[in-house]
Amino acid sequence: MADEIALGEVWLVGAGPGDPDLLTRKAERLIRAASIVFYDALVGPGVLDLIPPHVRRLAVGKRSGRHSKDQGSINDLLLAAAQDGERVVRLKGGDPSVFGRSAEEMAHLRAEGISVRICPGITAASAAAASAGVSLTLRGLSRRLQFVTAHARAGEALALDWSALADPGATLAVYMGREAARDVARQLMAKGMPAQTPVLIAANVSLPDERLLFTRLDLLHLGVTSIASGSPALLLVGEAVGAGDRSGAMARQHSEAVTQ
Ligand code: SAH
Repeated sequence: MADEIALGEVWLVGAGPGDPDLLTRKAERLIRAASIVFYDALVGPGVLDLIPPHVRRLAVGKRSGRHSKDQGSINDLLLAAAQDGERVVRLKGGDPSVFGRSAEEMAHLRAEGISVRICPGITAASAAAASAGVSLTLRGLSRRLQFVTAHARAGEALALDWSALADPGATLAVYMGREAARDVARQLMAKGMPAQTPVLIAANVSLPDERLLFTRLDLLHLGVTSIASGSPALLLVGEAVGAGDRSGAMARQHSEAVTQ
């Protein structure tokens, strides 16, 4: 099984939204084949439990507002491990190719002749839609998906194309959107998006403390205040979100809370 990763090779592996059952089989095999695993703050505890005890593990999590390694140090750590001949797994929350700074890590490693490969994962938008019992697209109504990050550098305004995002024929997934939620709603409504556009706030998706909150654009800022600031949260905006089996999702959420 160790042959899955060549000596000195790096795999960027999607860890999915948190629940280890939402890992791909390939991701699980790679985790077991690694000699060292670097992981983000968003990788679920159940996924980390799959790392064999003899395998070294290093947290390189980046969370806004918390002390963490900068990207340059992470790049250097990955490079050093590969050059030492380790079988390297770099576990990333969700899908490595979605707001995961994979390109920077790959460029750094490839510039030094290191082989880098990617194993995809379930991204938060897919997982949130699944938990909520909604479809991200809707025939004839929501024909476009837009994934954006609403994370702005300290003191800077969000540089997003609000006219394009305020498309009533699209579903908008806003990653890292909790802090900017009020601004997001205000900008979208200023560009003509109806105040009653359905919104789902999904926090800790697929984890035991998952929270799903259905609301509307003009009330979004109220909804996000009930989400703990340390929890990863995703916003889904658009008509498709309102067309789901809302009662089913609520009932599931309720029964999970009761059975814990
Ligand atoms: N590569 C990741 C995204 C990294 S950006 C992916 O594909 O999902 C981090 C953001 O992802 C968080 O701020 C949040 O908006 C979202 N996110 C990741 N995991 C989540 C989860 N379990 N529940 C809700 N949002 C999540």
